[in-house]
Amino acid sequence: MTNGKSGLEGLQNPDIPIPEELQSTIAVTSLDRIYNWSRSKSMWPLLFGLACCAIEMIASAASRYDISRFGMEVMRASPRQADLLIISGTVTKKMVVPIVRIYNQMPEPKYVLAMGACASGGGPFKEGYNVVSGIDKYIPVDVYVPGCPPTPQALLNGFITLQKKIESQSIRTVPWYRSGESEAVPLPVLGPDIIDPRQAELIRQQAQRAVAERAAEASSEAEA
Ligand code: SF4
Repeated sequence: MTNGKSGLEGLQNPDIPIPEELQSTIAVTSLDRIYNWSRSKSMWPLLFGLACCAIEMIASAASRYDISRFGMEVMRASPRQADLLIISGTVTKKMVVPIVRIYNQMPEPKYVLAMGACASGGGPFKEGYNVVSGIDKYIPVDVYVPGCPPTPQALLNGFITLQKKIESQSIRTVPWYRSGESEAVPLPVLGPDIIDPRQAELIRQQAQRAVAERAAEASSEAEA
């Protein structure tokens, strides 16, 4: 593989020595390294924002910070063409349902970045009746960026952290090439409160216990 003018610096495996006279001409690398290098340097985020953090995300794409330096400037308007979901803002119970649907519509490999205090844990609205305490209760999060709001620089640091994570993966163990390891997340159910279908059995047991306790109280009152 040619190096130098081809722009493949960083691909060379440092464990494999190359004679000095050939160092500017060829690079010897592994399949994992080139696979991860090409993926991590061309992440396409979904064109999607939720609240005030989204303004900082938009600023990071503008000329002053310019995420095109990370190969990320192509924000896609379709989850089918995106591989990075940036949760940039407050996640309400009403909104978590379409977020999970969008996540399921993204093809593998896909990554999630929780931007800011709201997306990571509810933020200033944590105790609010209509806000979930972190998107990671519903979909897996790869990188958390703290702040309220995080600055564009903090978001860029989150991108670099994500690139490092991608570069540590191996094509032999990534779940999207292994059957049964990459399944859709069940859609939450929005009713009087938001319900995660994975917790349905626990909720049913607690409801039955509450009914039994109420019946026991009523019968003891009747006896008295
Ligand atoms: S973390 Fe702060 S800036 Fe970001 S969405 Fe929440 S309240 Fe807004």
